[in-house]
Amino acid sequence: MNVQSLRSALLAWYDENARALPWRVGPHERAAGVRPDPYRVWLSEIMLQQTTVPHATPYFLTFTRRWPTVVDLAAEDDGEVMGAWAGLGYYARARNLLACARAVAQQHGGVFPDIEEALRALPGVGAYTAAAVAAIAFDRQTNVVDGNVERVVSRLFAVETPLPDAKPELKSLASALVTTDRPGDWAQAMMDHGATICRPKQPLCERCPVSAHCTAFHQGNPERYPLKRAKADRPRRYGVAYLLTRGDEVALVRRPPKGLLGGMLALPTSEWRGSALTDEEALASAPTTAHWRTAGEIEHVFTHFALTLKVLRAEGDAKDVVWTRDLAVLPSVFLKAAKSGLASAGRG
Ligand code: SF4
Repeated sequence: MNVQSLRSALLAWYDENARALPWRVGPHERAAGVRPDPYRVWLSEIMLQQTTVPHATPYFLTFTRRWPTVVDLAAEDDGEVMGAWAGLGYYARARNLLACARAVAQQHGGVFPDIEEALRALPGVGAYTAAAVAAIAFDRQTNVVDGNVERVVSRLFAVETPLPDAKPELKSLASALVTTDRPGDWAQAMMDHGATICRPKQPLCERCPVSAHCTAFHQGNPERYPLKRAKADRPRRYGVAYLLTRGDEVALVRRPPKGLLGGMLALPTSEWRGSALTDEEALASAPTTAHWRTAGEIEHVFTHFALTLKVLRAEGDAKDVVWTRDLAVLPSVFLKAAKSGLASAGRG
């Protein structure tokens, strides 16, 4: 493979086809000397972990409108930020987001460090995010490898080792491609190419700027890569969510700070376990004594397990709850449960 020719072809393609993203400084502006705002780059990278660009974009716009700088974000109450994050999922990220903003504000005078090692030392900033921020915000020559890059590299080199075992090999191959002259653009060119051309299904090889260098393309079966080891089935858990209403208000509780959905507002729930609760167990876990009746059942898939949540509904009052009409503050699983319970209002 001629690495120099591959780099030139991909960067030339990026110059013409870079996606316009609200956190991005495009290649032409960058060439004219415009520098990206590290806060916006970092925020976008945290939001984009496990989340698509269309889903993350409105959240990014809301966050940067409400908190234009990292110092503004650092000074905000936890509850406000967690509420604004509701719907993005993976709530540990929101807690780490605040911890990181406060570390930058308090320990670095509100200025993000500009090298990978120092970024890596910030709360919630893993190896990938540190490399991405260092490259995109500061033009450091780092090796930014996410799922998109793994896929592209596995196809370019027709890597026969299945994921996840292939990760070190893919990282090493990606590292050999990084350019010295435009590392920030290179990282984003690889991301854009993976997202729009070398897609997981039906890659657009006929429009690919680097097909001449691609082993999988020449072999005629790019979709075969990356190879993946067979996955074990996700375990299933069961629980009950309680929709307690008072007129048009719904009772919420704040979940404990640690653990799944920690610190988020939620419907009260029973424990979640490997077998369904009996009716007696469900009533015993309710937040108050009331005329509880079945009002639906929802399914939700988390990273490590699938959840079946039965919804019980009652009209009444309870201690230690927050009353609200604004269900938008709820994470997706509870929003789904609340909507299911409210939709069953007519049933007895
Ligand atoms: Fe991906 Fe096809 Fe391009 Fe190879 S030729 S890098 S498989 S889009």
